Amino acid sequence: MKVYINGKFYDKDEAKVSVFDHGFLYGDGIFEGIRLYSGNVFRLPMHIDRLFKSARAICLDMPWSKQEVMDAVCASCRENKLTDGYIRLVVSRGKGALGLSPLTCSDPQLVIIADQIQLYPDELYTNGLKAITVPTRRNSHAALPPMVKSLNYLNNILAKIEAQNLGYSECLLLNQEGNVAECSGDNVFIVSEGVVYTPPTSAGNLSGMTRRAVMELAEKEGFKMVERDFTRYDVWTADECFLTGTAAKIIPLVELDKRPIGTGKPGEITKKLIAAFNKIVSVEGVKI
Ligand code: PMP
Repeated sequence: MKVYINGKFYDKDEAKVSVFDHGFLYGDGIFEGIRLYSGNVFRLPMHIDRLFKSARAICLDMPWSKQEVMDAVCASCRENKLTDGYIRLVVSRGKGALGLSPLTCSDPQLVIIADQIQLYPDELYTNGLKAITVPTRRNSHAALPPMVKSLNYLNNILAKIEAQNLGYSECLLLNQEGNVAECSGDNVFIVSEGVVYTPPTSAGNLSGMTRRAVMELAEKEGFKMVERDFTRYDVWTADECFLTGTAAKIIPLVELDKRPIGTGKPGEITKKLIAAFNKIVSVEGVKI
């Protein structure tokens, strides 16, 4: 595997950044997770827009244009002879002195890893995933805005650890108000009486690319799509629930907090949306 760092490709074992990079020292940086389907990078310009917004939000000056970053993503896929895969794009603040100040940093690093990912076993896509609500709350907008896809993912990792300690692979995080925010690395949707709901980004979730695509597809398929706050109660009593993310794609959630959701099996609307999503991903995207 070849890893892209600032314009050059390196063998996996030779792909290195400095231990003085504030990305390593303080989690000071941003990232994107992008998918390649049948030689097309899914919604690449939107991913790059989100990356540049994350950069803007943390005052990280990007020395590359959006087009240069997109070209580097496509080149990484070609270099690794991928037609399907997962691309992890990282921008770190760069090398600096010890101490938090980003003003000491120069030379931000653009790293692109083009590889494969399987977040959940196939069986869970067929039968559905079970999750538990964890005590850790999603970051507040007033602390670390959840819209920033930053290199500091400890909020999500702590939640994941809590779920794993309780014997679950996935968790639901609530926000400070007790409303549903999202899962450790995925957005949440519920279906009740034929209407599809997802929390607004003000609830503390990432503005997911898969979330956006599913919202568009739900409307195209003729379902009413509503963005509004909801609570665990609404998930427990929903007819269907599913999670969305670039790595996870769309996965049914069939149990939360030991309550089966709906019939306890993946729902019909969920299955329709999965089929619709699978159709668009192979045709929509930037050709590498
Ligand atoms: N929420 C969080 C916290 C995430 O990290 C991600 C991406 N893994 C998502 C939601 C889903 O976003 P996307 O569909 O853009 O991958």
